[in-house]
Amino acid sequence: MRGNFFTICSAFYILLLLVVFFSKKRLSSIENKIYSWLIVTNFFGVILAIFSYMLMLDAENFGIFCDIVNKTYLLYLVTWITLFSIYVFIIAYNSRKLSTKELVKKYKSVFRNCGIAYIISAILVYVLPLHYNVKGAAVYSYGTATKFISLLSTIYMILWVYALLRNFRNIKKTKYMPILIYIASSGVVLLIQNMYPELLLITALETFITFLMYFTIENPDLTLIKELNIAKDQAEKANKAKTDFLSNMSHEIRTPLNAIDGFSQLILEEKDIKVIKEEARDIMTASQNLLEIVNGILDISKIEANKLEIVNVEYEPQKIFDELIKLTQARIGEKPLEFRVNIAEDLPLYLNGDYVRLKQIAVNLLTNAVKYTKNGFVELNVSTVRKENVCRLIISVKDSGIGIKKENVDKLFTKFERFDLEKNMTIEGTGLGLAITKKLVDLMGGKIVVDSTYGKGSTFTVAIDQRIVNKTKVVPVEAKVVKKVNIKGKKILIVDDNLINLKVAARLLEGYKVETECVSSGFECLNKINEGIKYDLILMDDMMPKMSGVETFKKLKQIEGFNVPVIALTANAIAGMKENYLKEGFNDYISKPIDKKELERVLKTYLNAKK
Ligand code: ADP
Repeated sequence: MRGNFFTICSAFYILLLLVVFFSKKRLSSIENKIYSWLIVTNFFGVILAIFSYMLMLDAENFGIFCDIVNKTYLLYLVTWITLFSIYVFIIAYNSRKLSTKELVKKYKSVFRNCGIAYIISAILVYVLPLHYNVKGAAVYSYGTATKFISLLSTIYMILWVYALLRNFRNIKKTKYMPILIYIASSGVVLLIQNMYPELLLITALETFITFLMYFTIENPDLTLIKELNIAKDQAEKANKAKTDFLSNMSHEIRTPLNAIDGFSQLILEEKDIKVIKEEARDIMTASQNLLEIVNGILDISKIEANKLEIVNVEYEPQKIFDELIKLTQARIGEKPLEFRVNIAEDLPLYLNGDYVRLKQIAVNLLTNAVKYTKNGFVELNVSTVRKENVCRLIISVKDSGIGIKKENVDKLFTKFERFDLEKNMTIEGTGLGLAITKKLVDLMGGKIVVDSTYGKGSTFTVAIDQRIVNKTKVVPVEAKVVKKVNIKGKKILIVDDNLINLKVAARLLEGYKVETECVSSGFECLNKINEGIKYDLILMDDMMPKMSGVETFKKLKQIEGFNVPVIALTANAIAGMKENYLKEGFNDYISKPIDKKELERVLKTYLNAKK
């Protein structure tokens, strides 16, 4: 037992190493492979060392069996030293900057030479004589076979030193550690072994070296690396999407801007009022396009921030479809397209749902149908399926246009995806419409399906459930805002640092015969109020230099007796902005460019106008 002490200790930590090493994910490198063979060999070597010692205690009785186990143990020593040598030669070659082809050649030569040496050594180990000393407490084997192992180890060590010295600068310092410790300690171990041959230190030394190697082999946390790679891929994709988005937007925004700028210049030079009016109309169309693009971007930003909300109100579906028809007819304009419309006759009079979003969905589909159809027809079909108080609206938009290739159908609802670009060069679009449409349909609990034949045409069908309102007389929401308001004589203060914006707001208010006053900073606004001038309403821009609209508003609230309604009037219309302004205490919010209907709604609400 005394002689086996170090070997039994080694058995424990090689077992531990085995479990730790094989339970962890590893790089699939040649170093790792050799190391895993080394650990396994080492484990069996320790077992063999324990058995051979036990058999030696009664060598005479065990006879040939004792011989076989002891010689197999010696074979283990040869295997370990050979594997360790392969490892040393490989790290030496790996440290050189060789091409993969050269490296593979070197690896092959290492395996071939070490393989030949191994076979010869294995034969010699079994052939050469081995004796056992079992006198007293010292139990060990000796003879030419063990001497051969020492000789083999020495030759290998000389070769290691040579390989290390040749690549001294390139090999990582940590990798030297187990090799140098082995070289240094094998001398000491041999000395001790000579003095106390019963101690059997060789296997323990090898196990210790195998254990040390575990810390020098590069095995980073693979799970972490995988996660990092995924994050890197995502960052690269996001970066690419951002670049694509910017170049796309730059083109999309410049197109209507070009029209606005061009026609404005023409108007300045034009004298014929008829032509001027026509060009002004073109400017309006271009700015509407620009607004659609910006709204699309805002919708996408809201969708991505999960801020897009569905607002259910009562509405008259027939009115919505009438508007859609008018809009589509205007879009078709001079295009040689037949516009067919079939609206179900049993359409309920009133429904409850988000009619604004419903309209947006249908507008997107109809606009695409008109855009991607050169001639033929565009068809709008609306049918219903009623179940108790729910009406399923089935809106289908069919066209005889360019159609969509099968492989593109799945990508249709991905943002910024546009197809057949070489064919559609002249058709404007951002690739946002269908992505938004799909998201809206999902949010409204509906379904959208596409049926398309490339070259023949497409049909987009949407099914959305809306609650039926059983009423005979309801004042529609839309009608409330359309009516002209009467607010004559009311006094409104407009605060905006941008002179053009002030001019636009003042001009829009002119039609209501109100008294407007314009100031271009928060300070001027505060002065007016402090002077005691009475206003009925304040329209306040937010993004102003020195003092923002929000800051001005906070100061206004501190003025004693101040109770004028203040409306945030801002171009900052990104997701959640409206809610932020309302939270700040503003009475309402109007986004720029000012929508006349929105303005009327606000005027009517806050100026107590008579109908
Ligand atoms: P946009 O029309 O602004 O490019 P959309 O998201 O609305 O973006 O549509 C994405 C793409 O799907 C379009 O670029 C077009 O290639 C294709 N597409 C959409 N509707 C149709 C249609 N009715 N017929 C043929 N192709 C269509």
